Formats: sequence, structure tokens, C-alpha cells
Amino acid sequence: MIIAGRLVSPERVMRGQIRIEGERIVEVGPQLGRPDVEFDDDCLIFAGMGDIHIHARDDVSERETYKEDFRTASAAAIHGGVVHVADMPNNPAAPIDDASYRAKQRHLEKRQVPITVTLYAGIGPGTRPLSFAVPYKVYMGPSVGDLFFTTLEELDQTLSRYRGCNVSFHCEDPVLLSAHRDEPTHERRRPPACEISATRFALTMIEKYDLTGKLCHYSVGEGLPLIREARSKGLKVTCEVTPHHLFFDETGITDENRGQMQMNPPLRRPSDRRALLEALRGGTLDYLATDHAPHTLAEKADPAKRPSGQPHLDTYGPFVTWLMLVEGFTPEKIAAVCCANPGEFVNPYVATLGLRFGRLEPGYTASLTVLNLARPTTVRREDLKTKCGWSPFEGITFPGSIEAVFVRGSRMP
Ligand SMILES: [Zn+2]
Repeated sequence: MIIAGRLVSPERVMRGQIRIEGERIVEVGPQLGRPDVEFDDDCLIFAGMGDIHIHARDDVSERETYKEDFRTASAAAIHGGVVHVADMPNNPAAPIDDASYRAKQRHLEKRQVPITVTLYAGIGPGTRPLSFAVPYKVYMGPSVGDLFFTTLEELDQTLSRYRGCNVSFHCEDPVLLSAHRDEPTHERRRPPACEISATRFALTMIEKYDLTGKLCHYSVGEGLPLIREARSKGLKVTCEVTPHHLFFDETGITDENRGQMQMNPPLRRPSDRRALLEALRGGTLDYLATDHAPHTLAEKADPAKRPSGQPHLDTYGPFVTWLMLVEGFTPEKIAAVCCANPGEFVNPYVATLGLRFGRLEPGYTASLTVLNLARPTTVRREDLKTKCGWSPFEGITFPGSIEAVFVRGSRMP
């Protein structure tokens, strides 16, 4: 199969063609032959986009599958132009050792989803590395589930066993969180100081134990210079940012939307939102990763429960067109933060499946995300594929849309 149109890489946009055989890209060039599929100039063809921070809520316990499961998460991902995801480990049956990780993997295989799901393993009090290579996630402070530490000394001790591993950090200092527990709002109970303090600690751990580190859902402007400084010292650290921290800020929180707008870390000041957009554009932030958290509207409306997080898989690609056409992000920058960088993150783990994501080059998996920059998308509840059935973007019109999605050589319906 030959696909023709405007091809985007982190280096350039060029008119060209891609030849696909089976699940793989075998050739890319200006003119390979008569195309089977041709996309016009309103469209941009990207390597398949990857969201390396989601919560699909599905595991062997099936206790949270009323919110989402791998099938509905996969449908929402494809609807949003996402071809691979990485799923967080804070499940009721958390994958924290060889046996529990393999069990979740078998459970995922049973679901037979078209997208590729990389599973994180959790790091919690007393855990040890698995016997095979996986990405790890560590929750410093109380979040969802039991996978968290109450003191940083305890976390340091545990991380000492994970020397050289790939570890993602949820940066909120548990000690500072508990010092602010009686503040009147969610935002004031989790102030910027918690994230800045935790950033310092995470960077210290990354250096001390030679970790390949990633900071999740970064939200505070003052923390960004710390990340740049650590990189200039040679630390291996990358950083995610979410659609909600780039689009919303705390001034938009009302009594009506308070539940829906609650997440960890919380929405921040307008100045933080601007700083994050500039840091994503400038390269301090590496990945657009959603932290897709499919809680039901009933749970979000109940002040006694009110779990944190927002669903974002359905709207990933349309949101990207907002970054491009409203915030002026170049196609090349989008190819870096939505395709190449997420691909680089998961490729060591998907190689065993014969997969390689992130670039429109021979040898890479033939998964593609095609955006249409001339046809807007208005987000409507009835169009969403996520089982939780809502989006914080409902009623919002993004300037572009998903034109087509190819997953491992096949065009998705
Ligand atoms: Zn998360």
C-alpha cells in the first residue's frame, strides 16, 4: 500500500509517499508509485501518536471496569488519533512484581485491543525491580490506591534497589501535602510548593541512583528551571505535560465545575499555564501525555468521593490542532512531542512485539495519525468512546480534526 500527502517529522514537513508492507513502513520518498490513499493539503500525516500516561482502570480484579476497560480505552484512543499508550499501575491488583505484572499482561492480551499498551510497574513501600525490563511509576504522595510513600526517607530506601531503571515520578511532596490538608480548596491543599519540593527530591534520586527519570504531568512554572539545570548537569530526565494544564487554569474553576476540574496536581495560575506552553514549545517539556483518568460524572460530582483526574483520550488529536492553529506550535514540534518522544519512551519495551513507534521511516511500525487542519471538531458527549462518557472539553470547538488513523498497517474504521 502507498500513502501520499504531507509527511511530518521532527525535522521537516515534506510532500511524499510511504510504502507499507504488512505492519511495517518499508520505504519513504518523494514519489514511489501510484498511491492507494492520498491526503490533500489540508491534512498532515504524522507517525502514530502515543500517550504515555493513561489510566485504563482495567486489571485482573475488574473492580474498576465500570469506569473504563482496555477495549473502551482503545476505542477512545483511536477516536483521538492515538495508536499506542502506556498504562499506569495504580490498579486494585497493582502490577508490582513479576507475577502481578504478568497477570495484568495476560489480562490485557485477553482484551485483544488494536492499539499497543505498554504497562508500567508500580514502585511502593518494600517493592523490588522485576526480572525483566519495564517502565516504573512511583507515587510520592497519597493519590489513587495504596501505592504511595508517607516519608521521603522510605522512598529513597526503596529506590536504592532500582539503580539504572526507567522511573516516572508523580511529583507531590507527601510531607508538604499533609501540612496543607486543612486548606479550604483542593488547589490550596496541593500548592505549587509541593511540586517544586518533590521535583528537587526526584532529581536528587535520579542522580543518586543513575535512573532514567521522567516527571509526570508537570504543572508549575517555577519548577522548569530545575529541570533545565539538571539536564545541563547530564541527568537523564524527561517531562510530561497534560492537555488540562495547558488549556485550563484555576481562575476557571466554579462551584458547578469544581468536581470535574479536580486533578492531581491541580490546575494552577494563568502564569503557570503560559510557562508550560512555552516550555513545551522550547523543549523543556518532552511529551503531550494526558493522564487520562476516566472517573464517572456521578463520582466527580460527589464531594465525599470526588476522585481526581479527567478523561482525555478521545480528544488528543483535536487538542493537538489547537496547539498548532491557536498556539502556533509547528508541525515539527508536534511530531516530536506526540510521536517521536513517546515512541522513544516505549520502544525498548515494544521491541519484543516487533514494534517500533514514532517516525515515518523504513523499519518503523506502519501506524499513522492523519490530522485535518481545515475541518473543526466540536466535542460532544454522544461522540465519546470512553466508558466514563464525558469530557472537560464538551461544547468546545477545536480548529482541526482526525482525518484517518492507521494501526499496524490497517486503516481504522
Ligand atoms: Zn496519572
